[in-house]
Amino acid sequence: MPVTPDDAELMDVQQGGRCFFCDGPVGAKATFDHLIPQAYGGIDDPANVVLAHRRCNQRKGDRLPTDEELDRFFALRRSSRLGVWPPLRALRGGDEGAGEEERWMTVAQAVARER
Ligand SMILES: [Zn+2]
Repeated sequence: MPVTPDDAELMDVQQGGRCFFCDGPVGAKATFDHLIPQAYGGIDDPANVVLAHRRCNQRKGDRLPTDEELDRFFALRRSSRLGVWPPLRALRGGDEGAGEEERWMTVAQAVARER
């Protein structure tokens, strides 16, 4: 389900009006960044989306979120109706020190299970 204006408002409150990546104030100019990129099956839903500056969103590009970013995202979503998309949990639950290729494989398998 796409991000509704209500969802975006709640996300803004959770993030304290700050960009997920650089922690700078972002407010109404925020863009939706998909933690698992849409090009790789990431859903367009608040459970996979954070608010970010356009430039931070673009700089991130198509990489996967780091463990630190995943931990921060899970903390933001704790006891929130916005939820966490299961493939993000699968990614965090992968082997510590897994290489990028391995992490992409984990994501691909978890995304496939969601279909
Ligand atoms: Zn930023």
